[in-house]
Amino acid sequence: MEADEPGISKDIAAGRRKRPRTSIAQPYTRLRGPAVLGHDDFPPTKPQGDNVIEEVTGVRKIRMLYLQLLYRCNFACGHCFHGERLKYADAYTAEQACNLMRLMQQQHGTEAVTLLGGEPFVYKDLAPVVRYAKHTLGQVVEICTNGYRIGPRLREIAPCIDLLRISLEGIGNTNDAIRRDGSYTAALDSIALARGLGVRTGATLTVNRHNISEVVDLAYTLQALGVSQLKLHQLRPVGNAALHPELLVTDPADYSVMRDQLRSAPLRIEVVLDEDLSEDGALPCAMPGPRDEIDRIESDPRGALTMSCKAVGKDSHAFWYDKDTDRIVHRPSAKDEVTLGIPDVVYSHA
Ligand code: SF4
Repeated sequence: MEADEPGISKDIAAGRRKRPRTSIAQPYTRLRGPAVLGHDDFPPTKPQGDNVIEEVTGVRKIRMLYLQLLYRCNFACGHCFHGERLKYADAYTAEQACNLMRLMQQQHGTEAVTLLGGEPFVYKDLAPVVRYAKHTLGQVVEICTNGYRIGPRLREIAPCIDLLRISLEGIGNTNDAIRRDGSYTAALDSIALARGLGVRTGATLTVNRHNISEVVDLAYTLQALGVSQLKLHQLRPVGNAALHPELLVTDPADYSVMRDQLRSAPLRIEVVLDEDLSEDGALPCAMPGPRDEIDRIESDPRGALTMSCKAVGKDSHAFWYDKDTDRIVHRPSAKDEVTLGIPDVVYSHA
């Protein structure tokens, strides 16, 4: 990556660590952000060493960083788990995003980064962040997008992307009803464009009452377009979905029918289900066994870090990336994911 790319300092481009502007042992530094997030409630940051996640949890290795660059999106889907936060201005600067990717690689050996939002293609510095991840850090780079009118920017960064994952909410009008008119066609066009540019593609769908009967047909459609994987998530009643209970699948038998249909369909595309959709359902919220390796850590645009996307919609973060000091800090609370032992998400096949 070139040092003179917009938003990226020469230090970042050279892979050098920025000196923190304040000491971590100083009293708690409030994060920037709207007061509605309840930042005043956060406890003070404890003095801590350089690798605080390992010190507190014993987790040494984290394979992948999910980095939500911003909350903003060009859609406002009826099921979006971000809910009100779609309107928030919180976002990583390009420098902060690159710093966090570098920190996670140095401290936890991360090998891959997934960039998402909000909508990452409306993030103005997506190109320099992607180039830094690929060229400077050598990461496997995945981007999750709604695929709406992303052509020009996709062409720009295609050589740096290992997987483009496009979210869909059903076929045709089923998708457009929850997103916007024309969004289904736009998403399929983006898949075709990515294929033409030599970028591997995946897709994701959050299963709701209206699209559950379309899952198999959608899988065939995506297979025909050369998509390699379809990931299915259960809709949880958080964010906008809490305002749309009519979208929820209320009868677990409907999931059984969907799994049976997927098993009996001669599909070549890989279909993976989050464990809430699996036959056995999710694990109860019990403290996971001691592990020194985990698959993923996710950062929201404020810098909150979570090792479990089960915590989605709840502020249960034990760790934060402090953007002011360029450090990971531990802010324990009675409801954080370490205290409560919220398990991480596991995927399985139908
Ligand atoms: S679900 Fe995805 S595309 Fe829809 S509003 Fe949320 S972030 Fe945007």
